[in-house]
Amino acid sequence: MAAMTAKQAKAVAERYQRAVELVNEGRVYRLYGGHEGDYVVINGQGVAYLVNVISGECTCPDSQYRCARLDILCKHALAALIVHEQAKPGTGDDPQPQAEPEELAKARELLEYLF
Ligand SMILES: [Zn+2]
Repeated sequence: MAAMTAKQAKAVAERYQRAVELVNEGRVYRLYGGHEGDYVVINGQGVAYLVNVISGECTCPDSQYRCARLDILCKHALAALIVHEQAKPGTGDDPQPQAEPEELAKARELLEYLF
């Protein structure tokens, strides 16, 4: 991994500060039933952005332009990442256990075998 430039560090620091605020304001929502790692973040103006914490992509203009150029995450992606890491299995915060899709697949396999 290449070292981060001071310019990148400054840009991340600015966005991280705002990301923590977004989390504290309850503006980050996990999306169930879509792609793994999908979140919706709603900004102060009520505009919703779709974030994927696995790819680090966000639909906001900052992510498409400045963040893409600097190779950093936007504030929405950082906010979703904070929530995502807080909700990791074992903490008891996640109402949907991660093993569930695998168990469903196994159950389906068993049903196909039986009938
Ligand atoms: Zn964004």
